[in-house]
Amino acid sequence: MPSTLSFDDLKSRVVDGSVDTVLTCLVDMQGRLMGKRFHAANFVETSYNETHCCNYLLATDLEMATPDGYASTSWQSGYGDYVMKPDLATIRMVPWLEGTAMVLCDVLDHHTHEPVPHSPRAVLKKQISRLKALGFDAMMATELEFFLFAKSYDDIRKSGFRDLEPISGYNEDYHILQTTKEEGVMRPIRNHLYAAGIPIENSKGEAEAGQEELNIRYAAALDCADHHSIAKHAIKEIAWQHGHAASFLPKWAPDRVGSSSHVHQSLWVDGKPAFFDPDAELGMSELMSHYMAGIIAYAPDYTYFLAPYVNSYKRFAKGTFAPTKTVWSVDNRTAGFRLCGDGTKGVRVECRIGGSDLNPYLAQAAMLAAGIKGIQDKMTLAPATTGDVYEDAKAGDIPQTLRKATETLRNSAFLREVMGDDVIDHYTRAAEWEQEEFDRAVTDWEIARGFERA
Ligand code: ADP
Repeated sequence: MPSTLSFDDLKSRVVDGSVDTVLTCLVDMQGRLMGKRFHAANFVETSYNETHCCNYLLATDLEMATPDGYASTSWQSGYGDYVMKPDLATIRMVPWLEGTAMVLCDVLDHHTHEPVPHSPRAVLKKQISRLKALGFDAMMATELEFFLFAKSYDDIRKSGFRDLEPISGYNEDYHILQTTKEEGVMRPIRNHLYAAGIPIENSKGEAEAGQEELNIRYAAALDCADHHSIAKHAIKEIAWQHGHAASFLPKWAPDRVGSSSHVHQSLWVDGKPAFFDPDAELGMSELMSHYMAGIIAYAPDYTYFLAPYVNSYKRFAKGTFAPTKTVWSVDNRTAGFRLCGDGTKGVRVECRIGGSDLNPYLAQAAMLAAGIKGIQDKMTLAPATTGDVYEDAKAGDIPQTLRKATETLRNSAFLREVMGDDVIDHYTRAAEWEQEEFDRAVTDWEIARGFERA
């Protein structure tokens, strides 16, 4: 298995000159790596202990705006500092950059040194420890789908995002011939990430021209989210290094399939799969059925954490493999939840609702919270659905717009109880802001439709 670096290993590499830079990063609300590039000598001498950043980093949008309405940070309170506390278990090489290592940080209050509750790593750690108190560990895997484009980010930006030519000319689902043509980008992505300690399983072509999928071996929930964030970052940087652009926007063209991030989940006890019962139907333990009942019942409450932008909801279209219904199925890709690995130790549930733009820490935390609720309340799992779930009128719907998902999030007594009012208020504000910004925009569609004819 690939591995991270110990702090002592890092120190030796600084002494022998093979590392001169340490990227010291937090994960922001959007799931991006933000932070500083330390000279490695300074990092191993002092900054490994802690460094600081402006607290607006966890209250901003993709554009780095400073929206009002956040209790934790504002112009009134003067935008103070957070402590960035390097988690030394996450030190790894960044093999696609010369002489560079990386560490992820927890975000702490400047004065109390307590975790900042709405920081994505803290949100996930809280649910992991609630689960641990019940005696379980969560194993998770997130699949990363994205599009590769022929041109670079800069060229595409200069074209006003019009020159969007995918790297391939046809649907490349499982194609070896077409994906061979993309190995200039995809091979370094797999190999550099593996060398960075991320257990890459494979990449494959996906069901649209230029669409790719990267699969990473399942891992403990926090590691899985760290792997996802680093892999997403690496994919963008490596695509950029090769003069291409990689996009995780869930839906970049109305007539093309969108990109998702499916989340595979299983619970374990003492290193053994607790979702597996060899004597039960489908090999599904009672524990697993309660967990699944919880994540299905509360899916509308946490949909925002799977689909955080206006664009995320454009992906949820009938007949595109992007699910809209809160039902489960055995190996059926039209349901929101799919049972995988039935009858084996690898039995697990895959949530197919999330888009490629989800923040993996928040998505996993919300699902763990819902699964825990299912276990605690011994919730009953409805029978599996079969056939084309899109046509199942009785099946429950997830919210179909950001506006609706914001309301279900705001009004979720369950999420408020298990994640905290401060966290839910914070992310509700982020969701509202996203909608307010969109409502202020005048889109190409409106102009084309009404310019002459309105
Ligand atoms: P798919 O047909 O959805 O691509 P795969 O067999 O490729 O299914 O597996 C998808 C993901 O599920 C992989 O990242 C794999 O590591 C993960 N996975 C396998 N077993 C488990 C498990 N017990 N718990 C969580 N994730 C798992």
